[in-house]
Amino acid sequence: MSQASTAVYNRVALIGLGLIASSMCWAMKRAGLAEEITGYARSAETRETARKIGLCDRVCETALDAVKDADLVVLCVPVGVMGAVAAEIAPALKAGATVSDVGSVKKHVIEVVAPHLPENVHFVPAHPLAGTEHSGPEAGFAELFDNRWCLLVTDDTTDRSAVNKLTELWKGMGSNVDEMDAEHHDLALAVTSHTPHLIAYTMVGVADDLRRVSESEVIKYSASGFRDFTRIAASDPTMWRDVFLTNKEATLEILGRFTEELFALQRAIRTGDGEHLHDYFTRTRAIRRGIIEAGQDTDAPDFGRGNG
Ligand code: NAP
Repeated sequence: MSQASTAVYNRVALIGLGLIASSMCWAMKRAGLAEEITGYARSAETRETARKIGLCDRVCETALDAVKDADLVVLCVPVGVMGAVAAEIAPALKAGATVSDVGSVKKHVIEVVAPHLPENVHFVPAHPLAGTEHSGPEAGFAELFDNRWCLLVTDDTTDRSAVNKLTELWKGMGSNVDEMDAEHHDLALAVTSHTPHLIAYTMVGVADDLRRVSESEVIKYSASGFRDFTRIAASDPTMWRDVFLTNKEATLEILGRFTEELFALQRAIRTGDGEHLHDYFTRTRAIRRGIIEAGQDTDAPDFGRGNG
């Protein structure tokens, strides 16, 4: 099934078998990037589903079994359990293996994972900037990472050959790869992902509070901007709880700035300052253009849904 000539790793172990792990599995298989893929998830139910849909070459009953002899181990579990999972697998890690993760927060993951890893193992944290609001083993698809960024967290002490191999894997799965430090990552993601999610959760919560609206108009008229908020606010509650609990500092910093800008806009509305509103919206429109020009979204009206 896998093609030896393109394999980057002999054996890859995926711990956690949700959206990201299953997408990695299909993307690795698509390009023949691993000779063998093993997997493990906490519940028997998820392991059973994974076996049923043919995810991984081998779904193991324990995390220790899955990581045994693996050249690359990727932690694909919620950020809040990364430390416990690292402690669990540490005794079975092969000397010279690389451990990575896909967590949405980096500083916290490094703090809780690194202390458990043996000295003869390389740790290269990663974060693919790709996802959907769906979770679980059946949510994954091979194209998820195509033309998306994967950020690797490195510093002067990170083993370069381990970084190069992991870069090769992510590129093989369709991603563009960049490197940065953990602090920079967490602040950048607080701006581009974490705070926007919190705002979407809030907006949907506000609409839900106005019961009358949520029972009728919200559903009926949701083709307008609100629909996109509901999609984001449908994201996995465990994952997002952990993101906010572990990227506290950066999220609070960005939320503070957000609140200030919101007050300024609120004031412009109250005082009828149309110029302020127009200038502001002109600036934000240019950002959308930049995202499209960078190939990170479609230019089609209403994201190409074609139904207004
Ligand atoms: P998911 O679909 O909810 O899957 C999580 C997986 O982790 C499940 O298979 C779950 O097993 C397993 N798990 C949970 N606790 C465990 C434990 N203690 N030991 C072993 N397995 C455990 O999650 P996901 O969306 O793939 O997210 C995984 C990671 O990727 C998170 O750290 C998240 O921050 C990051 N990420 C997510 C996205 C996104 O948009 N979803 C994007 C980029 C990065 P059970 O099913 O048995 O509970």
